[in-house]
Amino acid sequence: MASLHPLIDNGLTKGKPDFAGGNLHCRCSSSPVEVKLSSNVAHNHACGCSKCWKPSGALFSIVGVVPRDSLSVTSNASKLNIVDNTAAIQRYACKECGVHMYGRIEADHPFKGLDFVHAELSDEPGWQEPQFAAFVSSIIEQGFDPEKMGDVRGKFKKVGLEPYDCLSPALMDLIAAYTAKQAGVGKSKL
Ligand SMILES: [Zn+2]
Ligand SMILES: [Zn+2]
Repeated sequence: MASLHPLIDNGLTKGKPDFAGGNLHCRCSSSPVEVKLSSNVAHNHACGCSKCWKPSGALFSIVGVVPRDSLSVTSNASKLNIVDNTAAIQRYACKECGVHMYGRIEADHPFKGLDFVHAELSDEPGWQEPQFAAFVSSIIEQGFDPEKMGDVRGKFKKVGLEPYDCLSPALMDLIAAYTAKQAGVGKSKL
């Protein structure tokens, strides 16, 4: 079947719990954009939505978060451009190779303060391995055959990733708690 993602197709490689971050590079052969992360990613997951950057041939992206303070653009920042100004997540992509270097939330949002990144843009081993698969059914909206969704979910389960059609329960709870707090009904300490 089609590739879910090169880092998932043949099973997961575990990250190192004490990994302290590293540098991401875009795919330009000259003057690549470099982004330095001073922490490991968290909530790393496969995402089937149409907005996240995916390597060519992959049905899913792999995306995780870092605290905004842990991210800095260290080379060729002038090549970055926001893909869609109206999206909740402002995704900064390289104008030349198209790779998304990071996504940032500026509006009030449960995930404000976290930046979305693709750890596969780093050559260093140790990044947290994917923890779950999100927005799995969304690949149908991008042309994937609905009849083959059983194969896709089966393959995720085989490598130990639970497939969800939204985010994971932990992240959905976080969003709902934020919404409750905004509405003044929440008991959360967020
Ligand atoms: Zn580039
Ligand atoms: Zn996505």
